[in-house]
Amino acid sequence: MKPVYPTGQERDRFKDDCLAFKLAWKCDRCVHIVPTTGRCGLEYPNTELQQAESFETPRGTYVFCKHFELE
Ligand code: SF4
Repeated sequence: MKPVYPTGQERDRFKDDCLAFKLAWKCDRCVHIVPTTGRCGLEYPNTELQQAESFETPRGTYVFCKHFELE
């Protein structure tokens, strides 16, 4: 996944929107997850997204997948 670094304003707005809209973005809510293995059915490397505790990594990048589709 290509790293994206948000600005402070973007970060604040995203946090507010996540709370307001209960945003889902992780593999466990995606139709492409393979439940028996936890791997991506489209074969994308998804370890970081699977283990993310937040939408933002400790490095300050967003962790998203542009192929996410809500279950
Ligand atoms: S398409 Fe993206 S969000 Fe969906 S399971 Fe694969 S890596 Fe995860």
